[in-house]
Parts: sequence; structure tokens; C-alpha cells
Amino acid sequence: MSRERIAVGETYREQALINNERYLDMYQRSIDSPETFWAEQAQRLNWRKPFTQVKDVSFAKEDLHIRWFEDGELNACENCLDRHLPERADQIALIWEPDEEGAEVVRYTYAQLHEEVCKLANGLKAMGVKKGDVVTIYLPMVPLISISMLACARIGAIHSVVFGGFSPEAIAGRIDDGHSRIVITADEGKRGGKSVPLKHNVDNALEHCQHSEVEKILVLRHTQGNIDWHEQRDVDLAELLKEQSPDCPAETMNAEDPLFILYTSGSTGKPKGVLHTTGGYLTYVSLSHETVFDYKAGETYWCMADIGWITGHSYAVYGPLANAATLVMYEGVPNYPDCGRMARLIEKHQINIVYTAPTAIRALMADGDTAVEGTDLSCIRILATAGEPINPEAWRWFHDKFGNNTAPILDTWWQTETGGMMITPMPGATDLKPGSATRPFFGVQPALMDNDGNEIQGAGEGSLVIKDSWPSQMRTIYGDHQRFIDTYFSTFENCYFSSDGAKRDEDGYYWITGRMDDVLNVAGHRMGTAEIESALVAHKTVAEAAVVGIPHDIKGQGIYVYATLAADVEASEELRKELRNWVRQEIGPIATPEAIQWAPGLPKTRSGKIMRRVLRKIACEEYDQLGDTSTLADPHVVDDLIAEHKALA
Ligand code: ATP
Ligand code: MG
Repeated sequence: MSRERIAVGETYREQALINNERYLDMYQRSIDSPETFWAEQAQRLNWRKPFTQVKDVSFAKEDLHIRWFEDGELNACENCLDRHLPERADQIALIWEPDEEGAEVVRYTYAQLHEEVCKLANGLKAMGVKKGDVVTIYLPMVPLISISMLACARIGAIHSVVFGGFSPEAIAGRIDDGHSRIVITADEGKRGGKSVPLKHNVDNALEHCQHSEVEKILVLRHTQGNIDWHEQRDVDLAELLKEQSPDCPAETMNAEDPLFILYTSGSTGKPKGVLHTTGGYLTYVSLSHETVFDYKAGETYWCMADIGWITGHSYAVYGPLANAATLVMYEGVPNYPDCGRMARLIEKHQINIVYTAPTAIRALMADGDTAVEGTDLSCIRILATAGEPINPEAWRWFHDKFGNNTAPILDTWWQTETGGMMITPMPGATDLKPGSATRPFFGVQPALMDNDGNEIQGAGEGSLVIKDSWPSQMRTIYGDHQRFIDTYFSTFENCYFSSDGAKRDEDGYYWITGRMDDVLNVAGHRMGTAEIESALVAHKTVAEAAVVGIPHDIKGQGIYVYATLAADVEASEELRKELRNWVRQEIGPIATPEAIQWAPGLPKTRSGKIMRRVLRKIACEEYDQLGDTSTLADPHVVDDLIAEHKALA
């Protein structure tokens, strides 16, 4: 844990929506009287029928139920679009930047977005989609992805977005799981100059489906690439929309009606179909988008996460649109055609708030300072990350190069399951400590548990749990409620178990140490992966690192390191020694690695998270037990690492 503490800047404290006094006051109220607090916050939405019940929750595993605003009625799409029209019809809602730099940017006003959504909603109805049906969306990062989600929400269909980088097998599993009859896709996607054969993948997926009920595939002609066409099943989206009226009344939904299913990243095993509902979810993501990013009317905001992940759902669609924000959506990858693209994009659209992931930052950092060369990023006011712990080294670099040494970096901890940000700084309220997600959001009661299930008081380290419900909590694993209970409510009594470990320091700040499954136990010392990896990344030669435990005769477990070196660094035995000593010196002799393997690439989920369970199997030479690797971004990385491991042994 670094001792560095970066005070809230003067301007931030004075101008922010939430300063420290306000945070403390609101937080206290949210814990002391959650019903009053959330009843007030829910007024940020338009309710067709006001709720009279705020919260009805039990975390006891025999009687598990989670209900928020349960007799209230509203429509999520109407809250994201219609209600802004009287005042903001002509405000830009969405700025779309294509993969190819210099190609035409497309802008939608709120009125235009509303019209597109209504047409598609009518199109879906024409295809027989009804309230409660699951619609699978497999699209690239184009406006249609948000439009499709909102169109579903408008008519009460449940969307299930499958990340556009997934394979046919992965799509098939998700189509089966949701019993989808309709899939929305595109001929091809474009990422980093390459085409992704989306329609072809869907065709293939249908052959993999166990019990395919798919009747219609709606196809966006995006690249005009060649595709197979099945007259009976495939529908040209443009043709369908041509006939649709731009007028589509929104369905009245109960607050607890499902809004969407979304699968977790699969870092720890088979992805879980997380189900989120309407009223609590929208209240929470809207409130957190506004207060955490300190979003002010007129600002331009860019969430870089793919919409296929929860970050995209909550903070590139529902949260910001509920707040009438102006959003940027980018089709491609941050380092195409070169590592300066991200900075140029920010400058071009004068973006004020950027939400990204540590993996993107580490990738840019590996190329030195070229990522920002020749750009003026003074438009940036706030930076934020999610998805993985941000190593303090990457934090400082990002703060310096993109944040002009002033923009706060908000390290936001949360999960697909939590729907919204749970532990996070706020720009005008929270002194920052690089590497710490800092303090809980309103209504969130984190606690640390020891191995015997006792709550740890004060500073300490343990399993991170949440003691009471918050409105955007998942309600079940779609089709497998028992797995929901077993996974989250059976490890610790009357608590939601996050599966992550954390430390709490003297200031009450939380430091996520990594997944509990990945925790190392070296000679009786429990160590999180985050700390050792951050120490490695802090060495100037290391771009990225992952550590796992391997069996060790004396210590029980030893530390095995996979290190990716920076662009111009040569691997050598000396460097191996140097890194070993470096970790000893940075953390202590207990953390001395047993072995360091060079890794040109690390196995990551499609959302950019390191899959340590795969690395653990490689280090233990259990090559045939790699487990579910369907969400791996690049399966070849695994073969390379196995070859390298064999050579090392
Ligand atoms: P699966 O649950 O299928 O294994 P996953 O946990 O990777 O996949 P997500 O819901 O996308 O799926 O990721 C949530 C996890 O990401 C958290 O539990 C945590 O381990 C990690 N994480 C997210 N944000 C942060 C953060 N700011 N700091 C540290 N870890 C984070
Ligand atoms: Mg998880």
C-alpha cells in the first residue's frame, strides 16, 4: 500500500456536486435510514405509478429475497429518452467515432435517438417480441447497440448483450441460456482495422445451440461485407425499419421486472447470467453516474468499456442517458492505428470525463510517452478506471500524462453483480491514494471477514462482503437461482460475498487485493495478487505482470511470476535476478518469487482481465485442466505460455 495521499484539488472541492461534508452526511443518512434515503433518490426518475414500498430484503439464505420499490411502475427507456425531450430534444446524446480515423463521425440528438429507438421497438414488436421475451444482441460498438437495448426496454423485452468479440460457442451458450427467439447482429464489425464476421458467427452459433429457438436474425448492414443469407430467418434491419412508425408507446413496467441479463467475464469459471431489474438499477446507476463522475450538464463523457460489459450497460447507456448526458462511443480499440488514438480522440471531441480500464492504460504506457505526444488534453477534468486493480505506477502515469497532474483518477470497484459502482472516490470529496478504491458509495456497507466468518474491525484484511442490499444488486442468476444463493450468500451468513479480498487502512480506505481464489498463502502469510503485481509493474522494465501460487514443499505455496517486459527491454538471466531482488526489496523476503517466466502476452478475458486460474494451471503443468476458456481474448497466448513453461522447466 502506498502512503501517498493526494488531496482533493481546490477547484474540485468548491465546484463539485459532492464535497466531503456532503458525502459524509449523505452516506450516514443512507446507512441510518436507507428507506428514506432511497425513496428520495428514486425521485430522480419519472414513475408512472409511485412506489409505496422502498425495500424488502433478506440476505438469509433460507429466505433470500431482494426487492426494491416493488409496487412502483416506470419504463427505463422513457426515463433515458422521452422525459428529456421537452428541454433537450436538440442536445447531442451520442457522438459516434468510427474505427477508421478520419471517417465520418455520426451524431444523434436526443430527439433522433428517441425516434430510432421507437422504430426499432416497433420493428421488434412486428417480429412478435413481447414483454418478458429475451432478445440477444450481438453487435459491434455502433449506435445500434444502445438503440437495441433501449428498444427492448421500451417494450419490456429483456436484453442479453453478448460481447461482439465472442466466438460462436460462447454466443450459442448464451442464446440457449436465455431461450432467445430473436438475435440482433451486423454483417461485420470493425476493430483495429480488421473485420469481425459477426453474422457468420451467429450462423455458426445456431449450429452449436442445444435447443435453438431462434426464429429471426435482424441484420444491420454495417460494412456491406459478404454474408450468407437465409430468406426465412434473416431480416435486413434497414428494410424492417423503413416500414416502422417513429411512435411507440413505452410499456408500463414494474420496478422489479427484469431489464436485462448479462454474463460475467468468466475470470473464475463458467460465466453467470446476471439478472438485473428496472427501478432500483436505474435509480442507482443514474445517481452514481452523476455523483461519482461529478457530471454537469453540457459536459462530454466517454466510457471506453465495450457495451457488452456491465460497465458499458451502466455507464455508457443507462446511467448517462438517464442523466441526459452527451456520450462518446468509439467503434475501435484505443491503440489503432497507433497508441496516440485515444488522446487524439479525447482532444477531437473535447471530452471532459473519461472512464477506462487499467489494461488499456498499461498497454499505452508500454510505449512510453508517445501515447499523448502532440495533443492538448486540457479538456480532461476527470479520469476513472474499473475492472481490475490499477497499479499505482499506471495510476501515476495516467494522472500525469492524461490528467495533467490535476484530474483525479477514480478507481471504481464493482462487479457485474452489483450493477453499479460500490467503492469509489468522488472528485470533490475524496483524497486519493493511488491503488485504493477508497470509500463506499451511498448505501453500500462493505465489511471484511476473517476465515472463521467473523467481521474484522478497524484496519485489516479479509474477504470483502456487503452487509445490506443496495438498489442495483442482481436479483438472481438467470435460470439457476440455487447457484445464486450458493455463490453469493452461502460463504458468510447474511452477507453478500463478493469473492474479492480487500484491505482496509487506518483511514477506512479499501484496497482490493484480488480475487479470494487467487490469494497466495506463502509460509502462512496470505498475500493478494495485486500487491506483488504492482511491485513488479513499478520496475521500469515490466509492462504487465501476473502472479500465481504453486505448490512448495516447505512454504506450502511459492510465488510464480509471469512478466511482460516493456517494448524495448531484452529478457536476460540478470534481469530475472534483478526482478527477484526488486520484489524482495519492495515487499519483503516473504514475497520472493520462486520463478519468473517471461510472457509476451497474458491470458485475458475479453474484457481485459487477467485469468490467473489459467496461469496457475500452466505453472502447475496441469495443461489439460485449463477449465472454461471460452471467454479468452486470445487462446494462442496460452499455447505460447505452455511452450515457454516447458522450456523453462
Ligand atoms: P467471473 O465472475 O465470471 O469470474 P469477473 O469477476 O471478471 O468474472 P466482472 O463482473 O466483469 O466479472 O468483474 C468484476 C471483478 O473485477 C471484481 O470482482 C474484481 O475482482 C474486479 N474488479 C473490478 N473493478 C475493480 C477495481 N477497481 N479494483 C480491483 N478489482 C476490480
Ligand atoms: Mg466475478
